[in-house]
Amino acid sequence: MSDTSIRLFVEAPLRAGFLVPVSEGQAHYLAKVMRLQAGDTLHVFNGVDGEWRAQVEAVGKKETTLQLQHVTRPQAPDPDCWLCFALLKRQKTDMVVEKATELGVSVIQPVITARTQGDHVNLERLRAIAIEAAEQCERLAVPEIFAPVKLAQLIAAWPKGRALYVADERRTAKLARFTAAPAALLVGPEGGFTEAELEGIGAHPLVTRVSLGARILRAETAAIAGLALLLAADPEE
Ligand code: SAM
Repeated sequence: MSDTSIRLFVEAPLRAGFLVPVSEGQAHYLAKVMRLQAGDTLHVFNGVDGEWRAQVEAVGKKETTLQLQHVTRPQAPDPDCWLCFALLKRQKTDMVVEKATELGVSVIQPVITARTQGDHVNLERLRAIAIEAAEQCERLAVPEIFAPVKLAQLIAAWPKGRALYVADERRTAKLARFTAAPAALLVGPEGGFTEAELEGIGAHPLVTRVSLGARILRAETAAIAGLALLLAADPEE
């Protein structure tokens, strides 16, 4: 019997002594990839009840179940930081979702702008990428990922009290100085925001246009660099 550092995200409620079934994919991963046997232990989390140590009860074709033992980490809130990013090509969108999850955002909102490449995403696949990143970086929750919205809709429905930092590569913007959450970072598409879009967004009272430095970063780099700065400003971190 071994105590592994495997972490699995499960949907079920977590309570002492509960038997938790895992998905077929997770069962295959535990049995065939990680070669776990009955009696081995791992960690599970569900985004609500904290992280728990669990013992493999049964491993098999029919069903793989985990018996919950005790809490190893109580649930703690994620930083109240959102990433809104103009949709990129598939691989880059996947990478942005993975890195934003690792960095700790609570919400990921893909956005459709004038120069965006594509207007839809496979949300299930992005959620699977976020779950795997959350399992790997030892988060206790998986960020919410919403369906893409048009930029004008995003701004029109922007929530009260949440600062919105717009990454603006034009050198007129001040170097990013983020204040604590609730906050969000908005990053443009590979081709950049249009002047009209930046003017339109800039008029919103909660918007600050920020520079991430003198170099023109690729959109995915700007998202990662901007989030690292934004989350570093969060005292909860
Ligand atoms: N329009 C640009 C061009 O083609 O010259 C470049 C757009 S840049 C590749 C993609 C996005 O990354 C921008 O819309 C902006 O949101 C962000 N970005 C890139 N470099 C940045 C910087 N130095 N400061 C702030 N944002 C930046």
